[in-house]
Amino acid sequence: MKRELIQARLFRVRQLMQAQDLPALMVSRFENVRYLSGFTGDSGGLLITPKHTLLSTDSRFWEQAEREAPDFALHKVYKRVRSEWVPQTDLLAMADNPKRVGIEAASITLVQFETMQAQVPDVEWVTTTDLIERVRAVKDADELVAIQKAIDVAEAGFVHLRRVIKPGMTERQAAWEMEAYMRTHGAEALGFETIVAAGPNGAMAHYHAGDRAIQPGEPIVIDWGATVDGYISDMTRTFALGDGDAKYREIYDVVLRAQAAAIAGAKAGMEGKALDALARDVIVQAGYGDNFGHGLGHGVGLAVHEQPRVSRYAENEILPAGSVITIEPGIYLPGWGGVRIEDMVLVKEDGVEVLTHLPK
Ligand code: ZN
Ligand code: ZN
Repeated sequence: MKRELIQARLFRVRQLMQAQDLPALMVSRFENVRYLSGFTGDSGGLLITPKHTLLSTDSRFWEQAEREAPDFALHKVYKRVRSEWVPQTDLLAMADNPKRVGIEAASITLVQFETMQAQVPDVEWVTTTDLIERVRAVKDADELVAIQKAIDVAEAGFVHLRRVIKPGMTERQAAWEMEAYMRTHGAEALGFETIVAAGPNGAMAHYHAGDRAIQPGEPIVIDWGATVDGYISDMTRTFALGDGDAKYREIYDVVLRAQAAAIAGAKAGMEGKALDALARDVIVQAGYGDNFGHGLGHGVGLAVHEQPRVSRYAENEILPAGSVITIEPGIYLPGWGGVRIEDMVLVKEDGVEVLTHLPK
């Protein structure tokens, strides 16, 4: 990763540490470690102080760490502690023994916490929430390039599926067609487990893909994404093979209008709750308010669900310019199925730029 990017990110994190009176911060969440250091190994952590940038990991990752994170001094862990990384006294000594250390509450297990307290008893561990996540919410140019690549390959996978899908194909076969295409056309991994939900299965918003044979005319909800350079894409399309019935066309129209209202009204500075309401109001007015249970969207980046949140409950959560979010209203009718349409947008001062381009 570019050196100046690492320095800019560390600068912002150190500002937040200072604001919270934290002389040191231990970073253990995988995405945050990668974001701040470039290190992509899945075991280890960072210790950051105003003067030090330390990366601590075990021997499986030493060579990789030195190659990927040249701005960080390597702290070698010889003995793994119950396979979960915890900071040890010699790591803290390399950072001049800070007495107050911030930790990421959401990524520390109780086992890790108890081990830290027992092994390093004279440190005050201060819980932090969403500290680096708030920095990650605003994407820089390199991140936007990776996100667009992840979108492009996922969209190509969908176009491929539309060429080969036919009645009788199972949900899992359909998922595999897209997955194989994405993996052989530039995706390093899926973004998350693909959802292909045909007919009544579409009523379950987070169903995956089963052995149901797809029937003509029934709604098919496909929610998928790819990973490129660590960055994830996340999108949903709903369609039917042949003509959907009148109900399908009615529901689809409501969801599409709800999504269009949100895309038209979204801009930086809005509360996540206010953006959610733009789409939700359309669905409520059409009489389906009880059938849209989830939030309107979420940030996407190194994680598939990250800051900022866009939901009824996202009060005081302001959408920053430069964030990438999904806009994904849905209507789910038990026994019948569902319709969801999800696009990714870049939030700007005066509106949004839609990053996904598949037809709806
Ligand atoms: Zn999705
Ligand atoms: Zn999503």
